[in-house]
Amino acid sequence: MNALNKKTVEDLEVSGKRVLVRCDFNVPLKDGVITSDKRIVASLPTIKYLIDNNAKVILCSHLGRPKGEFNPEFSLAPVAARLSELLGKEVKMASDVVGESAQALAAELNDGDVMLIENVRFHKEETKNDPDFSKKLADLADLYVNDAFGSAHRAHSSTTGVADYLPAACGYLIQKEIDFIGGALANPKRPLVAILGGAKVSDKIGVITNLLEKCDTIIVGGGMAYTFMKALGYSIGTSLLEEDRIEDAKNMMETAKAKGVKFLIPVDNKVGKEYDPDTEAMVIDSDSIPDGWMGLDIGPATQQLFADAIKGSGTVIWNGPMGVSEWENFAAGTIAVATAVAESGAISIIGGGDSAAAVQKLGFADKMSHISTGGGASLEFLEGKELPGIVALNDKD
Ligand code: AMP
Repeated sequence: MNALNKKTVEDLEVSGKRVLVRCDFNVPLKDGVITSDKRIVASLPTIKYLIDNNAKVILCSHLGRPKGEFNPEFSLAPVAARLSELLGKEVKMASDVVGESAQALAAELNDGDVMLIENVRFHKEETKNDPDFSKKLADLADLYVNDAFGSAHRAHSSTTGVADYLPAACGYLIQKEIDFIGGALANPKRPLVAILGGAKVSDKIGVITNLLEKCDTIIVGGGMAYTFMKALGYSIGTSLLEEDRIEDAKNMMETAKAKGVKFLIPVDNKVGKEYDPDTEAMVIDSDSIPDGWMGLDIGPATQQLFADAIKGSGTVIWNGPMGVSEWENFAAGTIAVATAVAESGAISIIGGGDSAAAVQKLGFADKMSHISTGGGASLEFLEGKELPGIVALNDKD
């Protein structure tokens, strides 16, 4: 798959056409009220483009896990209401997904009108990528646009199957993910530096393995770094350890050496007595963590080491915090790395999930070139896996 060669919404003739758009409206809800409309706002550029170009817009999404049956708790009606406010025009809400209501509303649409069908996961066929259900979704429209990057790693009817029946292109959100992540992997501005952190080595093995083929430098911090220290024979006290990944860690460091890829792990750490935000803490070198202490953040010498490696890079890919950044006492390493990335002038790509949240919370969001909208999807993209929701789209002519 060449993700960079996929058709975008601008490659389609949308005027007067019914366009089914798969959005990511999986918004947080509390007692039926949307607590963050970030995902709805993020979908606006594609929707506005379609309205401005006289398309008849049919939106769809999943919301939560309604387990394949109608459940008002997971209705998209609050999204239609918020979207109406944001667009300044009515977004008609169907009471079903592919039934009479959806069909009737789709048939009545005028150019520039917008409607939303119900939660696609009200049908169990959705997550099975059932061809009949995909066809029913496709029958609502003439064209298909996928703009739900967060679900692009899932082969479901609304993300993948529907493209078997309609001309298919990506919206602006997916296009941006492809341009940044796909671009960094295929043709990076060098040096290419990857920073990986977070809790588990096992989550990131695929990413490191793929990036070892492409990067000039790999930086490992966070809880996962202690398995690498263990692999070097260091004592790591009660720090996080994945016993069954020690061998993998050793292999990754050896591969890096053989390939001439610089591979950095922490040289010092802020360790605590207990896994507690206010635990007694001290700074200690990586090869001398005492028994009964656990590494909860990188130390100041490591902050400097990592910042020096980030300085002067052409592209930085970052996924996972350097420590327990949710706790003020152990956030300094993540802040130092965020600062170094922000000041590097490099193309900076932040993986979704925890790293995106950390960058946002720490106030660095507008300093980054791209913050991914999909945690799982961005990891799979970085692993070099083909994302079904992108593979299914048509190639440019
Ligand atoms: P991930 O979801 O793999 O990106 O991991 C993010 C989580 O890793 C955050 O909740 C952090 O609190 C946690 N984390 C990062 N560093 C450490 C550490 N040294 N010890 C324990 N947890 C950590």
